[in-house]
Amino acid sequence: MQAVKYHGPGNVELVEIPIPAVGPGQVLVEVKYCGICGTDVHAYAMSGIFDWELVPGHEAVGYVREIGENVEGFTVGERVAIGPPGDCGACYACNTGNPNTCPHAFPNTLGIGPDTQGGYAQYVLSRFPQNELFKIPKGVELEQAVLFDVLGVGFHAVRRSEMKVGDDIVVSGCGSIGLSVIQTARLAGACRLIAFDPSPERRKLALLAGADYAWDPSDEAQIAQAKELLAHTGGAHVCFEAAGHPTSTQNCTDLCMANGQVMIIGSDNRPFSLISAALGPKQLDFKLTFTYTREEIHTLFELIKLGKIDTSVYTTQTAPLAQVKEMLEALASGKLNVARVLLTPNDN
Ligand SMILES: [Zn+2]
Ligand SMILES: [Zn+2]
Repeated sequence: MQAVKYHGPGNVELVEIPIPAVGPGQVLVEVKYCGICGTDVHAYAMSGIFDWELVPGHEAVGYVREIGENVEGFTVGERVAIGPPGDCGACYACNTGNPNTCPHAFPNTLGIGPDTQGGYAQYVLSRFPQNELFKIPKGVELEQAVLFDVLGVGFHAVRRSEMKVGDDIVVSGCGSIGLSVIQTARLAGACRLIAFDPSPERRKLALLAGADYAWDPSDEAQIAQAKELLAHTGGAHVCFEAAGHPTSTQNCTDLCMANGQVMIIGSDNRPFSLISAALGPKQLDFKLTFTYTREEIHTLFELIKLGKIDTSVYTTQTAPLAQVKEMLEALASGKLNVARVLLTPNDN
């Protein structure tokens, strides 16, 4: 079968490898779509993300093609999503309701862990089908289900926040994660939902996703307008940082009310000083959030099925495996501006 091997930054190769043999307890899945995640793009652009060889791809959907002995609950031909979290199910985090923080999850996740074989391939072998495969319910298209990673991060962030119905919300950064925060916050009963992004295209999508206002964070007049809207409480109840940039974090702390909450979703290596004379008196609550849980994927699929999450705000483009390098280059350089490129390993 065809697969894409990652050897290091800037170095991916289309290779021919055997279709994995299915052992007891395992399931083979034919990949229909695999999303190119921002993590994959970062790993292509710089070292320090994947410092090992692997076949990437942790956001795939497809069809169950072969089922090993002693596997229950799956049927050949059924549609499944394959991906994170690769939690172990046995550690303290897993047993206390926080499987997304399982310390074993990263190395176990197909398409992320060292030497794993993810969805940049025609077939994926799941060794832990009960953990790694999610059934896709009727009424949810594969093109929608493949967005589970994009949707899950924002969904988990809102659920993990202190947001309550009627709260004013700021979302800083309207990439695909920001858009899922906007949709979830709208569902959760936001009062005013104010989004910020420097890109006019992204601001348009933010409005489609349910934001009441979508403004440019570099435009002081628009920041002043947001402050005026939030003047009745002195700021937003919860600000979601979804850009992964110090300026965006600053924007969130500025627009947050005293005793409000700043949820940090974007990851960034640049330092940001929390302790400043201006910030202390607001007694802000900072909280971090990471990925999502299996249960949340299940809920998201139900919300998509009912039309309560709109997947049409995520622009996608398909590409065969042979174009993976081109796509990674275009995404890394910012030339291609889509929420997800979906690789189609079994289409030529
Ligand atoms: Zn991802
Ligand atoms: Zn665990």
